[in-house]
Amino acid sequence: METILFLAHTETEGTLAKPALEALGAAKNLNAALPGSTLVAGLLGGNTQPAANQIAACGATKFLAVTGADFAASRYASDAAAAEALCKAAGATIVVAAGTARFNRCLPGVAQRLNGRADTHVSGFSAADGRVAVNRWYYRQRMEGSLTRTQRPWVVLVDPGSQTTWSGAVGTAAIEAVAVTLPDSARRTTVTGHREPAADAQTIRPDAQLLFVAGAGWTKKQADGQTHVPEAAKLILDFLKLTRSSLGSSKSLVDLGGEGQAVLPFMTHLNQIGQTGATPRHPKGLSTCCHGEEPHTVGWRFINERRAISLDANCGWARGKADVLYVADAFQVMAKVNALLAQG
Ligand SMILES: Cc1cc2nc3c(=O)[nH]c(=O)nc-3n(C[C@H](O)[C@H](O)[C@H](O)COP(=O)(O)OP(=O)(O)OC[C@H]3O[C@@H](n4cnc5c(N)ncnc54)[C@H](O)[C@@H]3O)c2cc1C
Repeated sequence: METILFLAHTETEGTLAKPALEALGAAKNLNAALPGSTLVAGLLGGNTQPAANQIAACGATKFLAVTGADFAASRYASDAAAAEALCKAAGATIVVAAGTARFNRCLPGVAQRLNGRADTHVSGFSAADGRVAVNRWYYRQRMEGSLTRTQRPWVVLVDPGSQTTWSGAVGTAAIEAVAVTLPDSARRTTVTGHREPAADAQTIRPDAQLLFVAGAGWTKKQADGQTHVPEAAKLILDFLKLTRSSLGSSKSLVDLGGEGQAVLPFMTHLNQIGQTGATPRHPKGLSTCCHGEEPHTVGWRFINERRAISLDANCGWARGKADVLYVADAFQVMAKVNALLAQG
């Protein structure tokens, strides 16, 4: 019988973020699909009681926790020690955790210490006749594979954005503390602070309802024979401010900077969507001034509703890549859209 450990690290205020609640949703579904399996919750962080209370109604038979200042910040040595102790205390055979930067870094090492196996970027689970399988995408999201393992513990890191979040009433959970004594060698790294871009400068927003993609057309000569890059930058930034959308780009646009052409200064390779870029998950996507070629649109695989604005009625978007293509001048369309949005 499988013992499923839902493993989570808390956020600074002691609660669980959306990726952890998605992993819990997946762990609960797996628990329901495996008759006789047990669900245990394992938490690590500076303060774990708020997180335990947050998921008190999740149906876990135990709430194990490694708590303390040593486990507040992300650090390989202390996170790995805590996760290892929680896996052992739970007798876990399957560990389900969110694929956060913090866990992606340390949990494969934990699997190694426990002589288990780890799979990252998992986007689905299934269970038939007591046999568990996980799904993940390969070859830049072109092929989906389903795989199973006999080794235990099996540590499964779930891709954020791929699962439905668990939700339930807040309650009071009785935590069983798991003691971890760190050697000095596990405390050598200290986190001295966080640096992040100002809220307005942060254009990549994984939780946004809409992905707004800008293509190289924004920097190309327009009907008047001139480029209009500052105007393009303003239209795009105004739209982002008004909608809090996430900003994506085609490869051509982010590459232009390296070729000495006028570019949009807020755009980097981190914004690139596609085969050699990102494959984000958003309910909707709007492409502008982009041709919609396959190496780009392959990054749209997980965008549910796709629309595009291009001057070219024969662009890739018109060939089955978009639900709606507006054959129009994106400068004009976005100016009008921004004006309507500004009216509220
Ligand atoms: C191995 C490999 C990997 C690649 N990986 C990626 C990747 O990860 N991501 C990616 O994006 N690309 C990738 N590419 C490149 C990809 O094939 C395309 O070259 C790129 O996506 C084209 O970008 P674009 O559509 O923005 O530019 P362009 O092809 O220059 O298209 C610009 C479009 O803007 C339109 N336009 C111009 N002005 C306006 C206006 N005023 N209003 C509306 N429309 C206008 C034009 O009609 C045109 O359709 C890869 C290529 C290869 C070979």
